[in-house]
Amino acid sequence: MTKQDYYDILGVSKDASKAEIKKAYRKLALKYHPDKNKEAGSEEKFKEISEAYAVLYDDDKRKLYDTYGHAGINQQFSREDIFRGADFSDIFRGMGFDFGFGGVENIFERFFGHRGDFDRRTQRRRGADLRYDIEITLEDAYQGLTTEILVPRTERCDVCNGSGAQKGTSPRTCSRCGGSGQLNASRRTAFGVFTQITTCNACQGKGTTIDKPCLSCRGTGKVQQTRSIELKIPAGVDDASQMRLAGEGEAGDAGSGDLYVVIHVKGHQTFHRRGTDLYMTQTISFPEASLGTKIHVDTLDGGSGALKIPPGTQQGDTFRIKGKGMPLLRGRGYGDLYVKTKIHTPTSLSKRAKQLLEELQKELQ
Ligand SMILES: [Zn+2]
Ligand SMILES: [Zn+2]
Repeated sequence: MTKQDYYDILGVSKDASKAEIKKAYRKLALKYHPDKNKEAGSEEKFKEISEAYAVLYDDDKRKLYDTYGHAGINQQFSREDIFRGADFSDIFRGMGFDFGFGGVENIFERFFGHRGDFDRRTQRRRGADLRYDIEITLEDAYQGLTTEILVPRTERCDVCNGSGAQKGTSPRTCSRCGGSGQLNASRRTAFGVFTQITTCNACQGKGTTIDKPCLSCRGTGKVQQTRSIELKIPAGVDDASQMRLAGEGEAGDAGSGDLYVVIHVKGHQTFHRRGTDLYMTQTISFPEASLGTKIHVDTLDGGSGALKIPPGTQQGDTFRIKGKGMPLLRGRGYGDLYVKTKIHTPTSLSKRAKQLLEELQKELQ
């Protein structure tokens, strides 16, 4: 399913001002807020417009979205991060919706679920984060790369929907702990009564027990699966960059962890990278260096760049070709290409070449 454009979702133009974006969101939020609109799908719609607003109202996120689309946002921010910094309380104040203090956290928790590692209230844990290392060429880093990666991970069992109970049955509330997952053991001592809280051993703290375990996951509610995930590496990415794919980590009882992709850019035979600039060495002949010339060097984009070598060029002189370096990761434009000259000294001379050089030597004395 392709994700709808944020501007279309809010019904504003690409160059809409912040005031226009806020106005459009306020109008839609009033219409779709689940407290008001009980129609099916209104909550989904409300989440959608809230996400679009959270991104477009934030200058940095909007810029990323304008440049890279949804990939730019999804691969850099977790859902929680998308909403962080967006001021919803200001909008909902006066609309009659009570989000209490810390409106942003509340709106997030209410509609998208808690995303801490551990939910104290339900004693449930979020799935672990995963790391995936990928090696790409400098050409890939230049052009950007969309690729499929295979990630072995723990996922929720589809057969039992993660409950762990066989089809047609469901988990029961644990009879020993009454569903709290904890047992209180009181000990009377000379100093008074001590109450010790321990994890219920009948349900291992889950609060539920299963009579007939799901055959597919043996009652764990989770299965091991290798999943193919589309990865969009933006053009201009540097070595050791990290991308976060929110929710693509291991499945847990309180939501999935994130997948971190670490990008390694391989060294290149010709080009050396420093930031957004590229460096290369070009061999020229002694007459070319002395008389000056115009040459073409192969560039990383597969094309070539024209370079004027002035008369009297020395070994190691460096010249710049503007805009033939790496693309800028954020924003538009390119770095530069620096070409360092290396002067070739001729060997295995013909008789005539030798004569000419001897003459030249006399002339230059
Ligand atoms: Zn199962
Ligand atoms: Zn129990």
